[in-house]
Amino acid sequence: MTTQGSQTSAKIFSKKCPYCSTILTLADTKCHACHRKVGDPDKHGIAIIPGKWKAYVWFAVAIGILGGWFYFWKTYL
Ligand SMILES: [Zn+2]
Repeated sequence: MTTQGSQTSAKIFSKKCPYCSTILTLADTKCHACHRKVGDPDKHGIAIIPGKWKAYVWFAVAIGILGGWFYFWKTYL
């Protein structure tokens, strides 16, 4: 009935493990072959590696908080 979503390109029903290229389902959050965490598929159908960019974000946040506290401590104590 509805024809929505005609803009989306080829639908991806499976994704590949970025580590060992095992075919996984979209629902998989972990590769059943190499037991590493995998994310959503990119446009090539290859699962992204989760946590890679998050590690950088957390590092930046941690440095920011530490720096902020250090500045606060040096300034007011
Ligand atoms: Zn794998």
